[in-house]
Amino acid sequence: MITPWDVSEDVDYKKTMEKFGIRPFKDVLHKIEDPHYLMRRGVIFGHRDFENIIKSINEKKKFAVVSGMMPSGKMHFGHKMIVDQLIYYQRYNVKIYIPIADLEAYWARGMDFEKTKKLAIEEYITNYIALGLNLEDTDIYLQSKKDVVKDLSLKLAKRVNFSEMKGIYGFSGDTNIGHIFAPILQVADILHPQLEEKLPVLVPVGIDQDPHIRLTRDIAGRSKDFNFIPPSSTYHRFITGLLGGKMSSSKGDTAIFLSDKPSKSLKKKVMSCKTGGRETLEEQRKLGGIPEECVVYEFYVYHLIGDDKELKEIYNKCKSGELMCGACKKHCYEKIVEFLNDLSEKRESAREYAKEIVNNM
Ligand code: SF4
Repeated sequence: MITPWDVSEDVDYKKTMEKFGIRPFKDVLHKIEDPHYLMRRGVIFGHRDFENIIKSINEKKKFAVVSGMMPSGKMHFGHKMIVDQLIYYQRYNVKIYIPIADLEAYWARGMDFEKTKKLAIEEYITNYIALGLNLEDTDIYLQSKKDVVKDLSLKLAKRVNFSEMKGIYGFSGDTNIGHIFAPILQVADILHPQLEEKLPVLVPVGIDQDPHIRLTRDIAGRSKDFNFIPPSSTYHRFITGLLGGKMSSSKGDTAIFLSDKPSKSLKKKVMSCKTGGRETLEEQRKLGGIPEECVVYEFYVYHLIGDDKELKEIYNKCKSGELMCGACKKHCYEKIVEFLNDLSEKRESAREYAKEIVNNM
């Protein structure tokens, strides 16, 4: 079972899509005039009702994007993907909502409210701004302070029973009631933009968040009195950790954090990460590498190279045996350093603004 609180290392995307009716993103890709590179490269691989969003984009009509955060540790490159997508949608007629799930963090992880707020400001919102998200017209809020969401969640709670919640999330008899209620609050986060204005809502997520999407769509369908449009969603792949497996905030050697500084240890992390290289240089020259199995190449695809032509060149050189892993990893490290130095500067000027935003909530 995949739940938002427990993702296994080897997610079978194809099987999950078939089981839960997620549709391939490539089927709608050609309808998007200027797709994000994560869409073009298949990192965003699935969707539900994304046609509604395409229609809004093409007709220049307003839509909403909801993207919650539950601050629980340092932000790493895996977390960056969602911000990249939010920035992309800001070129359209969009209103973005960012709920900070402090209630869920309290119920599901035992984090106190002040700690969650501090982490949200110092780590998440500061990085969101530094990465380029425009927060001028974005609604960022703490769940615990947003009455319209809390009120809606109380009404929607009547439309789902415990057996259903247990079936979706695997809750057991000793799960605290707050934790069981947390997904209803998320349903309200996703649906509440429509209370003001009837408009399509998109929720870009990793596959681990799909239980929330399914529950929201079910509840929306049952709530004829509200006349909600069921939310659309997109699904992106998880970035692989440096050693293979999952990139995780709690396992430092699997991740590169957005606050990492260029250092010997960072270089060591990159230089010792899992590649698709062969046992010997001779073999690599003869057979070529396997970029499809390479963490370095994945970094290029997901984060470091925006230009498709440049990416293709690296792919071809790897496949043909012209490029060796040592040089490739060094190049990757240099690109990471360039990125982190730039982000660190931007983070300095973002810090005060992030504080101001949360303190005014
Ligand atoms: Fe990966 Fe680069 Fe080695 Fe190819 S040459 S397997 S892309 S590290």
